[in-house]
Amino acid sequence: SAHDKVTLIGLGPMGQAMVRIFLAAGHDVTVWNRTPSRADDLVAAGALRAETPKDALAASKLVVLSLTDYAAMDAILGDASAALAGRTLVNLSSDTPDVTREAARWADAHGATLLVGGVMAPPGMLGGEGAYVYYSGPAEAFTTYEKVLTLLGEPRYVGEDPGAAQLLYQAHLDVFLTALSGIAHAVALVGTAGVSAAEFLPDALGTLATTDAMTGLSETGAAAFDDGVHPGDLSTATMMGATAAHILGASESAGIDTALPRAVLSHYERAIAAGHGKDNWTSIFEVIKAR
Ligand code: NDP
Repeated sequence: SAHDKVTLIGLGPMGQAMVRIFLAAGHDVTVWNRTPSRADDLVAAGALRAETPKDALAASKLVVLSLTDYAAMDAILGDASAALAGRTLVNLSSDTPDVTREAARWADAHGATLLVGGVMAPPGMLGGEGAYVYYSGPAEAFTTYEKVLTLLGEPRYVGEDPGAAQLLYQAHLDVFLTALSGIAHAVALVGTAGVSAAEFLPDALGTLATTDAMTGLSETGAAAFDDGVHPGDLSTATMMGATAAHILGASESAGIDTALPRAVLSHYERAIAAGHGKDNWTSIFEVIKAR
């Protein structure tokens, strides 16, 4: 049936994994990628190669896009917009909520529907245990294709605003990328003392995984962030601010990058200036959310 056909545009690591998942489930999968050679293995595995973006759109009513950003979709489909009518575009590429909303209006103007997705799994975990995907946009498009999309991960529909799925996705990546920068910075810091990453990382990651501040956060964080309760019985903003200043000082004398510790220290300085010195560290939220 028409529902068994899927077009996949964008064959990076994510798009390739998606094609294999759809093929394994018995779907007819048409593929297109700017660099055609990236489709070769998938065609050998049973995918159909579209010669042009227009052909890729014509092949299936469901068109999944997995690209670096939304500008890539514009670059690919800009000249093929006459073939958009009646299509549901499921764009699983990262971008800002605003760019996503603009793309939804563009799709609408060409008789297509845009469903926005934010994939919470790396390529190797797609379709597996724990993989989930945020979706936002027209509810009807979501329910129409929910079953096939479930193959990629548990779908979590978060509302009609096309930007909503992107906002949630970016929030997850905010945690992730900031943590990654922190780790890279810490490795650089110990490196100046001749300590290797191999030596340091197991301890650092172990502490992160077991410390009360992190493990208890899903409970204590709700009261702190949702209700503004910062009792000052754990790690106070004053203590953490002093620590942040020590990290900055250590980084300065080690001669490594100081942008990250400066940003962290600024949160505590502003929280303390706003009267939160005796409150828990979570009070930095009050100055972060106010910008
Ligand atoms: P990339 O971000 O490297 O996406 C590459 C794809 O985008 C390729 O098909 C590339 O074509 C295409 N592309 C980029 N710019 C253009 C352009 N201007 N015109 C045409 N095509 C373009 O790879 P991933 O597969 O890793 O990621 C895809 C999306 O999924 C990203 O938005 C990413 O943020 C998101 N994501 C990735 C995860 C991961 O772990 N990798 C996890 C969760 C989400 P070409 O082959 O010709 O270069």
